[in-house]
Amino acid sequence: MAEFIVRTNKKQEMVDITQRVADLVKQSRVSDGICLVYVPHATAAVAINENADPNVCEDILEALGNLVPEGRWRHDRIDNNAAAHIKATILGPSQAVPVRGGRLRLGTWQSVMLVELDGPRERSVIVEVR
Ligand code: ZN
Repeated sequence: MAEFIVRTNKKQEMVDITQRVADLVKQSRVSDGICLVYVPHATAAVAINENADPNVCEDILEALGNLVPEGRWRHDRIDNNAAAHIKATILGPSQAVPVRGGRLRLGTWQSVMLVELDGPRERSVIVEVR
């Protein structure tokens, strides 16, 4: 198991972690298998989508914001971040990517993204290659 830290800079943002994950896949020396990318956090998530046009990430965050409005949830009375918990649950804390020939078998337009939903914070990313 490998782990690295991502320092996020905004309340909400998507950080491309594809290269860091790919480096760990290479170090693992696994040729054909599966790579699990997981964040041990309740207000962050892992998503796979396009980052060639960074507007895709902005659109995803905006759509989630429309789906889950801020400031109207029970948990807001405790630490005012219920929307972040709900969005993190919708996206999920992990993604699995097939490994083929020692490389992540991503599509041309796919990137692995850490999704920060209640930043800025330090986030851990756990990568398991088997
Ligand atoms: Zn909370």
